[in-house]
Amino acid sequence: METRQETRTAYDTFYIGGSWVGPSTDRVIVPIDPSTEQPLGGVPEGAEADIDRAVLAARRAFEDPAGWSGWDPARRAEVMERFAVEIDARADGFVERVSSQNGMPVAVAAQLETGYPSAVLRYYAGLARTSAFEEVRPGLLGGSVEVRRLPVGVVAAIVPWNFPQALSMFKIAPAMAAGCTLVVKPSPETVLDSYLLAEAAEAAGVPAGVINIVPAGREVGAYLVSHPGVDKVAFTGSTPAGRSIAEACGRLLRPVTLELGGKSAAIVLDDIELDLASIGEGLFSSTLLNNGQTCFLGTRVLAPRHRYAEVVDAFTALAESLPVGPALDPATRIGPLATARQRDRVESYIARGIASDARLTTGGRRPQHQDRGWFVEPTVFADVDNGSAIAQEEIFGPVLSLIPYDGVDEAVRIANDSEFGLGGTVWTSDPERGAAVARRVATGSIGVNRYVPDPAAPFGGIKSSGLGRELGPEGLMAYQQSQTVYR
Ligand code: NAD
Repeated sequence: METRQETRTAYDTFYIGGSWVGPSTDRVIVPIDPSTEQPLGGVPEGAEADIDRAVLAARRAFEDPAGWSGWDPARRAEVMERFAVEIDARADGFVERVSSQNGMPVAVAAQLETGYPSAVLRYYAGLARTSAFEEVRPGLLGGSVEVRRLPVGVVAAIVPWNFPQALSMFKIAPAMAAGCTLVVKPSPETVLDSYLLAEAAEAAGVPAGVINIVPAGREVGAYLVSHPGVDKVAFTGSTPAGRSIAEACGRLLRPVTLELGGKSAAIVLDDIELDLASIGEGLFSSTLLNNGQTCFLGTRVLAPRHRYAEVVDAFTALAESLPVGPALDPATRIGPLATARQRDRVESYIARGIASDARLTTGGRRPQHQDRGWFVEPTVFADVDNGSAIAQEEIFGPVLSLIPYDGVDEAVRIANDSEFGLGGTVWTSDPERGAAVARRVATGSIGVNRYVPDPAAPFGGIKSSGLGRELGPEGLMAYQQSQTVYR
């Protein structure tokens, strides 16, 4: 049950099997506000016995012959739409909890951690209503074949702290539409918002056991991945954790979707009009969104050599124009990094950049006016070699590497010279030309003069950025398996 004391929100139960149940240990998770370094409250920390209980509840709900997985999809859609309404009713709570736990500026959270997840939920409710869950085709060998799209079963959904609600919903919505049940494991940094989600599910009448939520750390996450009661794993997080989860799922022959890290390219073409008043917002949201803690950002900015100085000046001016401040201040564009560890990591990359041949044009320090909180100034490096650490490794902070190129072929070659392939953008005054360049980039998704993962289109990476896709009809198929009946 929830108790509130000033700004501290505390819970002492988990949402499992449609009830609020006590934890198996007395261990707690205390999230820290990265803007103030103050504790925010606490929730119980899930242990193996809590996961066992949650998986059992999800299995029972899945296997109930009169239950969720056997319902008419339109009936599931009705519940999902009510769930979306309940999420929207808690919008302010989600914004406050997410921003105070991970440092996301409230202006970003208001768009991407409330309205966006409920839009994803409504999109999949729509797909549940309109998709063919059974289809009969003429067989080539005579007779007909019935193809059924069955829910894959109990899903383990493991999510990171950077967009905890959106990335949970990328899994929950298609899994619900397909008829699956879930155990969701939020990251220890962002747990309070997951209780609001549980409350919304309860208020919407999501049947008991369809969604179970157990916040826990990585060891317990690994236990969930290999749990015998789980049929599919859906993971968003770092590439090293993704590899280890893929190994476990490989041994078990368990289906897995992995949304991992990135180091995408923002290719500035030579015809661009560099007017920050018109394209500054798009450049910001595709290169620095959420304090640089967004997987798809184009943090390698590729610029034509004959306009290189102009591009460097534009990005330097953009970085210097962004107010840095506490996440809950509506004027803030760059908040703190989510954890002290994350700030140390970002600062270590800045030090490597300074020690390399790259040229620091702005930022690189902790802002003078913030005496508390894990802040780092928006930072721009020019003259970066694409082979250097700051160009090849995911920094996950507000740090851009500007790399010159000679000709579009070289721009594409540099963009593709990366271990990752997740997002990216092309900036041009000629959108057709931009699309032609975008198609040559080896990446799961890429935008021309904008980048927003659209719920209707598949999102995901290639190479070390992951396996499989979320969103779009493709995201629904990831929670289905087919059965063919020859007739
Ligand atoms: P992380 O990999 O450390 O943790 C992510 C989640 O996985 C957490 O809930 C954590 O407890 C859990 N976890 C970690 N190791 C695990 C294991 N071996 N088995 C089971 N669970 C485990 O990542 P993070 O630091 O929380 O998030 C940042 C990373 O996530 C970045 O690399 C970023 O690029 C990536 N990310 C990717 C996408 C995408 O869609 N591709 C989106 C957002 C973030």
